[in-house]
Amino acid sequence: MEDYLKRVLEETTKKNCSEPEFLQAVGEVLCSISPVVKKHETEYEKTAFIERLVEPERIISFRVPWTDDNGQVHVNRGFRVQFNGSIGPYKGGLRFHPSVNQSIMKFLAFEQVFKNALTGLPIGGGKGGSDFNPKGKSDAEIMRFCQSFMNELQKYIGHDIDVPAGDIGVGAREIGYLFGQYRKIRNTYEAGVLTGKGLEYGGSLARTEATGYGLIYFMREMLKANGKDLSGKTIVISGSGNVAIYACQKAQEYGAKVVAMSDSNGVVYDKDGIKLGIIKKIKEEQRLRIKEYIKEVPTAEYIDSEGKDYSPIWDIKADIALPCATQNEINLQAAKALVANGVFAVGEGANMPTSMEAINYFLNNNILVAPAKAANAGGVATSALEMSQNSMRYFWTFEEVDKKLNNIMVNIFNSCQAAAKEYGLGTNYVAGANIAAFRKIAKAMRAQGII
Ligand code: NDP
Repeated sequence: MEDYLKRVLEETTKKNCSEPEFLQAVGEVLCSISPVVKKHETEYEKTAFIERLVEPERIISFRVPWTDDNGQVHVNRGFRVQFNGSIGPYKGGLRFHPSVNQSIMKFLAFEQVFKNALTGLPIGGGKGGSDFNPKGKSDAEIMRFCQSFMNELQKYIGHDIDVPAGDIGVGAREIGYLFGQYRKIRNTYEAGVLTGKGLEYGGSLARTEATGYGLIYFMREMLKANGKDLSGKTIVISGSGNVAIYACQKAQEYGAKVVAMSDSNGVVYDKDGIKLGIIKKIKEEQRLRIKEYIKEVPTAEYIDSEGKDYSPIWDIKADIALPCATQNEINLQAAKALVANGVFAVGEGANMPTSMEAINYFLNNNILVAPAKAANAGGVATSALEMSQNSMRYFWTFEEVDKKLNNIMVNIFNSCQAAAKEYGLGTNYVAGANIAAFRKIAKAMRAQGII
């Protein structure tokens, strides 16, 4: 790494020493872009370019009081990190999960800047959320929480300012309550202020499917470039939420066999192939634990993940692994288990699901890695298509949106591959994605002066 980048990383580490996830995300990017920065080192240093790249434009943190069904008041912390708006309005999801803190918000927003640049669409990067735990809450409690959250968030967002969407714990139901409150407070039908909306009030067809489908489109391209394909391959997918479910659906359409899925409590292993209809019923309709699957498919096995160093899903023999749950779910031990079991490709559906050591282990063992910033960009890309449809006051058919998504994922893969090739990085698409995104952000930032 260049001396200048080393100094920035040291400074960033000192300033943000209690934010490990953020530092991990910054560390990975700075390592990758080193050969690009080298070409302009003097100029970048003089204009504190990388210092500006790693410092969010704005962090908003606020109190979210809400009342439960028994009349008890609770207080959660809300966040919105508006990281970089040089390419377009800030864009990125909202996460409701007890693990949410400033480090996680900043890492997600930082990654989002790069991901959004890769889509080729005019969107900057942001992220938000709260340490609120939606699990076990009634509909009325979720609604009151969303309304209180929006009472504050509405001051900082708008269709040309910042456009939030869903993420972990924030699906169609939450987006509906958030949109309703925004509309009530602002007295305007500003459809493009949130994406992931219901189809009846400005949502886009194929947005629900987009991240999972996009992941598989990227995987298809990556495999094709390396003389392989999805047909007949065995796949394990962590998570059973939005990304996992639609990745499973598309992988099955391409003839792959998905043998395991999971949630935060455990894993279901179905050697005959996961019956996705049952998973959808349990997770999307009933909002129950994945363990229920074995009641409906007694030949399947349930493995508890309580107290384990990594999810037991990574011990299951497969050709392809798709981490689609959360950050750092594949540590070095899990990576070793996957490689020992014959995995040849990993596709990151979740954001930063693989630790740095694990990524390096995969790359050193010639495993193809589809990096999150590129491989899961289909969701935000389709959100941007939702914004376009809202602006036009029109909508496209499912097939039209899916076709645009497919093209976007092909273009993203091509730019990762081209950047990796240009810098002699072979099949290191992780570095390729960081370099391709950085070059675009850098051009926009340089054009706009020191701000
Ligand atoms: P969902 O809330 O729909 O699903 C998340 C899934 O992951 C659930 O099965 C959940 O289990 C599991 N999970 C969550 N946290 C943990 C944890 N700490 N340990 C183990 N399992 C966990 O979220 P999404 O599918 O939307 O998001 C999944 C990932 O994909 C996230 O990293 C998100 O940032 C990323 N992503 C999502 C996009 C989207 O469009 N939705 C776009 C791009 C990235 P349980 O049911 O037990 O909670």
